[in-house]
Amino acid sequence: MATAQEVKVLTHFIGGEMVEGKSGRFGSVYNPTTGEIIAKVPLATAEETRAAIEQAQAAFPAWRDLSVAKRAEVLLKFRNLLTENMDKLLQIICTESGKTIEDAKGEVTRGIESVDLAIGAPHLMKGEYSVNVGGQINAYSAKYPLGVVAAISPFNFPIMVPLAQTSMAVAVGNAVILKASERVPMTALFVSELWKKAGLPDGIWTVVNGDKDAVNELLENPAVQAISFVGSTPVARYIYETGAKYGKRVTALGGGKNNMIVMPDADLEQVADAFIGAAYGAASQRCMAISTLMPVGEETADRIVAILKKKIAELKVGSYTEPDTDFGPVISQQSKEAVLAAIERGEAEGAEVVWDGRELPIVKESKGFFVGPTLLDHVKPGMEIYEQEVFGPARNIVRVASLEEAIELINRHELGNGVTIFTNDGAAARKFTTEIDVGMVGVNVPIPIPVGYHNFAGFKGSRFGDGVMFGPEQVRFFTKTKTISERWTAPVSTASTFAFPSND
Ligand code: NAD
Repeated sequence: MATAQEVKVLTHFIGGEMVEGKSGRFGSVYNPTTGEIIAKVPLATAEETRAAIEQAQAAFPAWRDLSVAKRAEVLLKFRNLLTENMDKLLQIICTESGKTIEDAKGEVTRGIESVDLAIGAPHLMKGEYSVNVGGQINAYSAKYPLGVVAAISPFNFPIMVPLAQTSMAVAVGNAVILKASERVPMTALFVSELWKKAGLPDGIWTVVNGDKDAVNELLENPAVQAISFVGSTPVARYIYETGAKYGKRVTALGGGKNNMIVMPDADLEQVADAFIGAAYGAASQRCMAISTLMPVGEETADRIVAILKKKIAELKVGSYTEPDTDFGPVISQQSKEAVLAAIERGEAEGAEVVWDGRELPIVKESKGFFVGPTLLDHVKPGMEIYEQEVFGPARNIVRVASLEEAIELINRHELGNGVTIFTNDGAAARKFTTEIDVGMVGVNVPIPIPVGYHNFAGFKGSRFGDGVMFGPEQVRFFTKTKTISERWTAPVSTASTFAFPSND
């Protein structure tokens, strides 16, 4: 274990300063690769959160009134600082999340895409204008920022998700409060330093570290206008319902249980490679990870299982400090135990473990939170391992007889984040993209995560509310539209009109 001196005591970032926690409550931040506690994160009280909201509220009017081009300039500087500080960012992300360096680099790059889109706010905020809509009246619609808005983030993308949730919110003129995941708070605090260096006024970017107490204050405080949440489905549902009760705009993205359909005509070597990366990358801790492979037909299933066994045997599970590591640990001991328990229940319910990641020496001997790649065949709907999201490297094979059966099963599932099909048959692909009830759909693409300038959101239990993460739709979510009708001329009549206004 790390000695007491090595355990950093973290802060919040409020009013442009690192501010010590006052609650006396702390969470432990682990290095999942070694199992050591590396920091203590303060867990804010409702009062501390309220004080942070008040500072954000006070800072908001000046930021709103700054020209949108000047705001975009700050974002451009922030973007450059992110790339200049890439090495430091990777070091922090890998230490607190256990991801490989390559994977973390991908995450930072995708996060920067959101900043890039937000730099375009001057264009994206343009409204609509109509001349002479009636009686020398011109009408226009314009987008105004909301005020104080909050983002609540999950642990699995310490930088990409917070940047996707907040960059546009800042650019369009809001004051943003991030409640970072208490399991990976160091990345958010470092990002705060970069915002400050970029010239963002104090109070426009705040990081409140904490848990349920801080979140509940954000949900209930009348000054907070909108909530962007990303995390697990049960919490997403709670955030959506509670936020709506307090009259806020809420987008709450939840978990995923994503399928890869394999048609008999697909190139199975290629599919196996695609599946392994998309299924086990980041120790399967991605909302868009492939959980289930659905081969169509027994022959396709038998062939691909044989190929997968050979390829999974070659995977290297280990530390991000070793260059050839394919994936690292899961985030916590609790998480490791949950994945191992899910595998056991899967076996008990009749699934066949065709590759057992529990047997790797690193799983048994390391103090880090490692689980090896595990593959369960003959998984069936109704089994817990099929129905529930497992946030770790236990993956399923569900054998189906036809494309129709695959579509029917997927559409019946509670979650609908991502899905993909591998085929050379255009008609099958078209039927699939038309009939599937899932938000992000791939054709011969392993993880169909949209680029930053397309909208990102699942369907069904993977998203509550109608907002998105990434994409131009965010402008609508983080602004309110006023429609203004103006007449600038000598009055045509001084008499009052009591008829309903018409276009005459
Ligand atoms: P989580 O739901 O446990 O936590 C997310 C956030 O909510 C954290 O900041 C946490 O502090 C807070 N929180 C947790 N419990 C709470 C409660 N009872 N009341 C109020 N706040 C609470 O999720 P996680 O384990 O950090 O992240 C993994 C989950 O996030 C997975 O389910 C994954 O699929 C999902 N995820 C979804 C997307 C997406 O785009 N749909 C993206 C990334 C992660």
